[in-house]
Amino acid sequence: MSSPTTLSGTELAAELNTASAVRAAALPFTPTLATVLVGDDPGSAKYVQMKQRRCAQYGLRSRHIHLPPDTTTAELVVALTDLGRDPEVQGILLQHPLPPQIDERAAFDAIPLRKDVDGTSSAAFAAAALGQPGHRSCTPAGIVRLLDHYGAELAGADVVIVGRSAILGKPLAAMLTARDATVTVCHSRTASLAAHTSRADILIAAAGRPGLITTDMIRPGAVVVDAGFTPGDVVPDAAEVASAITPVPGGVGPMTVAMLLSQTVDAAEAVVGTR
Ligand code: NAP
Repeated sequence: MSSPTTLSGTELAAELNTASAVRAAALPFTPTLATVLVGDDPGSAKYVQMKQRRCAQYGLRSRHIHLPPDTTTAELVVALTDLGRDPEVQGILLQHPLPPQIDERAAFDAIPLRKDVDGTSSAAFAAAALGQPGHRSCTPAGIVRLLDHYGAELAGADVVIVGRSAILGKPLAAMLTARDATVTVCHSRTASLAAHTSRADILIAAAGRPGLITTDMIRPGAVVVDAGFTPGDVVPDAAEVASAITPVPGGVGPMTVAMLLSQTVDAAEAVVGTR
């Protein structure tokens, strides 16, 4: 089989970020993203820094709130509610995972929908499921954008998603169903994972289990999206059977951040009524 198309998130994210910078510069104020980090997890701190760097690079401002590891749900809710009321902040990102004592759902739901530019609140999930306006969960939105950009036909496609988290698999299933795909969602209790994955026109791995998807689990000619971090959920040999595949890194990751910036600009435009 000829080499597959590379679904380059790096390239598309650069285009999207440049467009966000142009839109941000046209506003009467600088769009501001508040990033909230609870605790000292080095991985989470690194992701937050990277998002702040991207903001600076593309003409957005970021404001960082760092809370101690023993923060309670009530304290975090107060911090998020304050940011929700702050007219200088248009977008709020609560970095996750959160420490175990925090009720994650209560925290996400303390972010008002208009500022929930990471699309993690219940209201944002409902809006995505019902096809209503609102910010979308960034990783699934980035995946849909990438598939659209490379011309993957979604209507009528058999899409199999491996993973059902509230920020990735579930909202992605809702978004793709709204685009007329026939969606199957697999998870850790799925009886025969390979039986599902091997009939997918579009296979999306979002389990966080390196090497879970092996070549024999992929239908020849399928489009394969790997949301996993390095190393990905899909074995590198999958490129031998797929018609198109995301690189890891350089696929889903940059798209997630690009969607965050783009939705922060959307939120700022909504404030001045240009959206
Ligand atoms: P998560 O909350 O841990 O959810 C993982 C999902 O995978 C769960 O639904 C789980 O099933 C399922 N799963 C785990 N092992 C499985 C197996 N052996 N077979 C089938 N399903 C299995 O993770 P997440 O936050 O959704 O993230 C998923 C992946 O995407 C991770 O690699 C994460 O690093 C990556 N990610 C990337 C970005 C990015 O920007 N690139 C952003 C977010 C996440 P159960 O529900 O049954 O437990």
